[in-house]
Amino acid sequence: MGRAFVYVILGGGVAAGYAALEFTKRGVSPGELCIISEEPVPPYERPALSKGYLLPEAPARLPSFHTCVGANEERLTPKWYKEHGIELVLGSQVKSADVRRKTLLTAAGETISYKILIIATGARALKLEEFGVNGSYAENVCYLRDLADANRLVNVMQSCGGGNAVVIGGGYIGMECAASLVINKINVTMVFPEAHCMARLFTPKISSYYEEYYKSKGVKFIKGTVLSSFDNDSNVKVTAVNLRDGSRLPADMVVVGIGIRPNTSLFEGQLTLEKGGIKVNGHLQSSNSSVYAVGDVAAFPVKLFGETRRLEHVDSARKSARHAVASIMEAGKIGEFDYLPFFYSRVFTSSWQFYGDNSGEVVHFGDYSGSTVGAYWVSNGHLVGSFLEGGTKEEYEAMAKATRVKPVIEDLSELERQGLGFALAVSEKPPPSQASDVSGSGLVVEIPLYAWHATAGVVVAASIAAFAYWYGRRRRRW
Ligand SMILES: Cc1cc2nc3c(=O)[nH]c(=O)nc-3n(C[C@H](O)[C@H](O)[C@H](O)COP(=O)(O)OP(=O)(O)OC[C@H]3O[C@@H](n4cnc5c(N)ncnc54)[C@H](O)[C@@H]3O)c2cc1C
Repeated sequence: MGRAFVYVILGGGVAAGYAALEFTKRGVSPGELCIISEEPVPPYERPALSKGYLLPEAPARLPSFHTCVGANEERLTPKWYKEHGIELVLGSQVKSADVRRKTLLTAAGETISYKILIIATGARALKLEEFGVNGSYAENVCYLRDLADANRLVNVMQSCGGGNAVVIGGGYIGMECAASLVINKINVTMVFPEAHCMARLFTPKISSYYEEYYKSKGVKFIKGTVLSSFDNDSNVKVTAVNLRDGSRLPADMVVVGIGIRPNTSLFEGQLTLEKGGIKVNGHLQSSNSSVYAVGDVAAFPVKLFGETRRLEHVDSARKSARHAVASIMEAGKIGEFDYLPFFYSRVFTSSWQFYGDNSGEVVHFGDYSGSTVGAYWVSNGHLVGSFLEGGTKEEYEAMAKATRVKPVIEDLSELERQGLGFALAVSEKPPPSQASDVSGSGLVVEIPLYAWHATAGVVVAASIAAFAYWYGRRRRRW
């Protein structure tokens, strides 16, 4: 038994949804495209699972957050796929792939062949067992990667209102779930081995800003230690968490967010891998020219930093998917993917965005006892990364533009003094004749360094005005 398509997307997550929309925009014909997903629903905006989905009142539910609503684009419901003649093979896991024969074999025994394959298999949550701790099977131990996990988490949360939750892991999932648990009136203790939360991205100063904020909401932190075992009752429910430092925490539920692993196993030995993902070129094309990889599973060249990276964030999933489809449908006419790394998170009423790279020296700005704070990273004399909490849409856009430009920074204390005003001034004053948009992203890139020295006076003047404007402005969310 078998079916054949021109284009097959393997995986039905964020990248798959954005790729599907791009295919239709670029004129795919009915019957040419197929999406195979082990999930039972069409692609949806995964970040909603740790945010709106966990709200105690008026929670987000499908179909409201199918892709591509996260980018303010069309919402692709099952009807949309039908109307566009896109075959959805849902609830169907691909068990093996043969890139030489261009075939995929599903768990149901169906062979699906393709001319062009887009791998969008994302990643899976790492399990405690991979770190030598048993107990993931207990009914009140939760992970969060897909809709089934989210439904399970909601049920467990609802059964332990007012109780105690232990969150294992101080990264994205741990932080967002901890906030949601608090909103659901559950007492939360976070446990992680690092000295501060979000250690891969944040500086200690930014982390302590959020830790203080979480503490004000009642969250407790136990840092520098790890889970060693669970205590269980006769129903195999976890009743307490034992830590390596010898402490014991009573628990009505446990949420585990200890990282992810890209789903590459189907292609190991068939495609070149790098940084744990499938290595692709600037067109998202793998070592096999008929196979592309996008989203969390792809390791792609980040031109801005001159190196290959694998990112685990929704914006790169959306944009890499679009770029791959553009490259496929308009072969030879599309430039290389030129991506500015962008991460964000929203917890309680706070919201931050990060652009670029967190390498080099750090300059913090803003009032770290207030609601709008930020940081810049400066490497080899250039601004390479920026972070802002509590900004407006315009301010975040300014941070993105300034980071993309990579302006020369000669004086860190002057940058600190100017703070957000620096990004606002840089983004408002691009010398038009020097600017070029090679990425197709709408962002102006590569302004020669001398332009920055020439405009230094303007930047300083504008930044004073921008600073006053920034401090005077009420915080707005969008
Ligand atoms: C709870 C949560 C909250 C998040 N919040 C944020 C956030 O606030 N900001 C941010 O930037 N990023 C966030 N992310 C990360 C973001 O969601 C991911 O970067 C994004 O989903 C990656 O898209 P993807 O399409 O590559 O992978 P996914 O969206 O994970 O999709 C992969 C799909 O492939 C399917 N699949 C895998 N293997 C097979 C197989 N063999 N056969 C069939 N199907 C298969 C999976 O079931 C899944 O449907 C969050 C992630 C999670 C889990």
